[in-house]
Amino acid sequence: MVQKIAIIGGGIVGSTAAYYLSQGEYANFEVSMFDEGIGQATKAAAGIISPWLSKRRNKKWFRLASDGAELVAKIAQETKMNDDAYANNGTIITRKNKESLDELYKIALEREKNNPQMGSVQYISKDEIKNLIPIIKNSPYDGLFVPGGSRIDGNLYCQHLLNIAMKRNLSIYKGKVKLINDNQILYKGKIFTFDKIILATGAWSKEILANLKINLNLRPQKGQLIELRIANNEFINKMPVMMPESEYDFIPVGREKLIIGATHDNDQGFDLKHEKSVDIALVKTANNLINNVKANDIILSKVGTRAYTDDFSPFLGMIPGHPSLFIGTGLGSSGLTTGPIVSKLIVDLIKNKKIDLNQYQKPISTYIN
Ligand SMILES: Cc1cc2nc3c(=O)[nH]c(=O)nc-3n(C[C@H](O)[C@H](O)[C@H](O)COP(=O)(O)OP(=O)(O)OC[C@H]3O[C@@H](n4cnc5c(N)ncnc54)[C@H](O)[C@@H]3O)c2cc1C
Repeated sequence: MVQKIAIIGGGIVGSTAAYYLSQGEYANFEVSMFDEGIGQATKAAAGIISPWLSKRRNKKWFRLASDGAELVAKIAQETKMNDDAYANNGTIITRKNKESLDELYKIALEREKNNPQMGSVQYISKDEIKNLIPIIKNSPYDGLFVPGGSRIDGNLYCQHLLNIAMKRNLSIYKGKVKLINDNQILYKGKIFTFDKIILATGAWSKEILANLKINLNLRPQKGQLIELRIANNEFINKMPVMMPESEYDFIPVGREKLIIGATHDNDQGFDLKHEKSVDIALVKTANNLINNVKANDIILSKVGTRAYTDDFSPFLGMIPGHPSLFIGTGLGSSGLTTGPIVSKLIVDLIKNKKIDLNQYQKPISTYIN
């Protein structure tokens, strides 16, 4: 029998879930996606996929993020994504002093063993950094080059996957929905019934579940970044991402675009206002590495809302006591990296595949009451 599935939310979690539901025996599923899109983190994100040298001690998160980074690359390859949506150009991480760079290199050597996607990490000198990213005047510090690092454009990535799914079993509806009960949602004044509902509602997951008296341990965090136009350079699409210590990240994209960001504001709730002062601070950072960047060079200033749990870990699965409700949220600042695997695991659960969620997260009840 065909199962009717609703996906609420069209960010990276919702879009990747739609993609996986359109693969394999897709005729078993009739999928409807509802997405409001305002404040969506995926569209606002910087796009860095490079979790391997994170100093976070949370092993379950690391497993999720490193398997996630591998999956992002696999999806890009199997769906023939173009390099505007996904590019594996490596990441450069610089450190002010040699000791902390050596310490990071030690971590890299240890992690390389079990994470082939990361590639073989190498020391990289200031001059070599300048060769790889000619748009910068000079790197003030040496760094490490992580060959597996990549960048994605969240919006293009999702659109690409949705286009594939729409050719098979997906319909998309724009606008906000309310959850009425475990199987019904309210959309534009009408009630729709589904066998299963996937909540891919990011930072708004707490709000949508409040109607069912389900409380999530989840809070919003505002993030802002800028896109700068820089002098046309035909190689910019091939440049690695640069993550300088205690500065904002540099993400070269497309033919003449450079993303600088992003901020992390914990006390502004769901506010989506563009802060001029933030734009100015980001331009100032850009000037540390590139000559003569001006506020006029800003093409776009983006704001989005991330979702955080108290222990900064994403969580996913069936909501206990609600067998038709599935959720994946709390992805924080690395959700482009973990989002695709979160969705794949949710779809595996819906397809009754055996999976071990323990390796990736604490029991889901930790985040729900
Ligand atoms: C500025 C910024 C920079 C970032 N940079 C990076 C990065 O470099 N690398 C990285 O890995 N991660 C990054 N992230 C984090 C990443 O973007 C997020 O963790 C991830 O995109 C979250 O995806 P999601 O699908 O869970 O939520 P979202 O992308 O926020 O999508 C949720 C969607 O659900 C919709 N929705 C919610 N409620 C309803 C409802 N009731 N009805 C209909 N629709 C609804 C929303 O409108 C939204 O479109 C960044 C985030 C920000 C904000």
